[in-house]
Amino acid sequence: MSTSDITTKTIEGYAAQKVGALLELFQYDCPQVGPWDIEVEITHCGLCHSDLHLIQNDWGGSTYPLLPGHEIIGIVKQKGSLVQELEIGMRVGIGWQGSSCGKCEWCHQGEENLCLKQEATCVGHFGGFANKIVADSRFAFPIPEPLDSVNAAPLLCGGATVFSPLLQHNVDATMKIGVVGVGGLGHLAIQFAKALGCEVFVFSSSPEKEAEAKKFGAHHFLSSTHPNAENLVDLLLYTSSGSVDAKSYLKLLRPKGKLVIMGAPKDQQVDLEVFDLIVGRKTVCGSNIASAPVIRKMLQFAALHGIEAQTELFAMQDINLALEKLANNEIHYRAVLEN
Ligand code: NAP
Ligand code: ZN
Repeated sequence: MSTSDITTKTIEGYAAQKVGALLELFQYDCPQVGPWDIEVEITHCGLCHSDLHLIQNDWGGSTYPLLPGHEIIGIVKQKGSLVQELEIGMRVGIGWQGSSCGKCEWCHQGEENLCLKQEATCVGHFGGFANKIVADSRFAFPIPEPLDSVNAAPLLCGGATVFSPLLQHNVDATMKIGVVGVGGLGHLAIQFAKALGCEVFVFSSSPEKEAEAKKFGAHHFLSSTHPNAENLVDLLLYTSSGSVDAKSYLKLLRPKGKLVIMGAPKDQQVDLEVFDLIVGRKTVCGSNIASAPVIRKMLQFAALHGIEAQTELFAMQDINLALEKLANNEIHYRAVLEN
């Protein structure tokens, strides 16, 4: 697919026509660029496990044709009359969140990811596995110059999602941070926690990932299925796409520890007994993506500390190959599609 003919009235991408189907070449009419919108020529798009969950309708409610992709990097080609910060020719990134109401208390305080009317880039809209996209400029972010486009794309969803709870829970260098799952989110979580100066414990179902996890900054590497440990960490970031064995993970928490669930597996059950929480005053909570201000901070932090995704690059037309490898847990550690 060519990205050069940006003046055509159609957008070309890859979409699933039904649940679990391979993605096929798909065209749709380019939407009008509204006053707050930008038209972006996509150069790269990361493949997040949420794209696979959507294609497989793991969460229910997927609609088809479904054109996924929400870790977008591209160049602004057109802008609406009210867009101020972004200029034509700028390199921007777009993540999971596509819009919010702009009027509620959460939007007013810069926590747009809590807005009840938020919309996602590729849910009910066509996403980033395409040659271009028309997006709300309020959810498009300039990419700091030191970040390479390939390795920065996964920061837009994966990086933002794991950085946010580190800020929400006031993580400092004295804390012990656990990460469950060394995938797209997990390998970035290890790097952020390490850069914040924390002692980092990694829990993985893949023993062969130990050396790379330690290269990302893990101090300790344990099995996620049989950790055989207790009382280890203050904050445990659950980034696995597998079922949440919350009872076992709560045992890994130190008193006052928190389990933050970001992984969103098909099996959405979380089983607990009251004493799992009462003893040691433990907390289980979730976290969704990140607000626009936090995404901006995350990008600056990543640029300063040299945090980037370890990627496997695929041509956009090889999207099905990347999806197959992702489904088999064979990607080290984020597939990125390139136009
Ligand atoms: P990913 O790259 O596929 O990584 C997931 C990791 O989970 C795998 O590398 C693997 O790590 C572990 N895993 C997978 N299946 C497992 C199983 N059956 N049992 C145990 N461990 C398993 O996925 P991702 O893109 O990082 O996304 C991870 C999850 O976060 C997905 O469910 C995604 O939808 C969700 N997500 C949530 C948000 C949010 O806002 N909350 C944002 C983005 C993504 P090991 O090999 O190390 O065990
Ligand atoms: Zn995502």
